[in-house]
Amino acid sequence: MFMAALLDVLAPPRCAGCDRPGRVLCETCVEAIDATPTPLISGARAAFPFSSEVRRVLHCGKFRDCRSALRTLAWMGAARLQAPPGSLVTAVPLSRRRAAERGYNQAQVVAQALADFHRLRDAALLTRNRHTQPQSALDRSARRANVAGAFTASSASLGATVWLVDDVLTTGATVAAARQALLGAGAARVEVAALAAVL
Ligand SMILES: [Zn+2]
Repeated sequence: MFMAALLDVLAPPRCAGCDRPGRVLCETCVEAIDATPTPLISGARAAFPFSSEVRRVLHCGKFRDCRSALRTLAWMGAARLQAPPGSLVTAVPLSRRRAAERGYNQAQVVAQALADFHRLRDAALLTRNRHTQPQSALDRSARRANVAGAFTASSASLGATVWLVDDVLTTGATVAAARQALLGAGAARVEVAALAAVL
């Protein structure tokens, strides 16, 4: 905390949404994000559309300001999402390689915010078996094949209602594979939520 405070004095934070100096997520961006409607998608819930501000926060990377901005955004998103009662909140995991490159899992930051906001338990129920290619480089059917069988769910999933969380939903292929692993491990119900959806 001390280091963070010191850094704020030396270099004031910049907004992850618009790059203006001042706050990690400025009031203008917060208002713009808050004004967007919750996307209507089938089979999942997302807090925000993939607006330019949301996209910039999610693409911001691993810098200190970006992580704080992501936490702020995740907290705003949590208020927009209805939690499945009594659920265990679990994030879609990154591969070990991707996690090492990035330093943290954005989906985990979102899952933590959802768990804290809705007073639910956060549980790491999934592991990623292998490194998969970035989904963005692939078309729809290749995306499904790329992530099929990529996840294993722990025995703690048995009988649980699971709130499965990702940062961004695109085709939904990744969460579908993760959901399948959870159901295969005996989860009673799996609901999917994301911070943003690309429509
Ligand atoms: Zn801004």
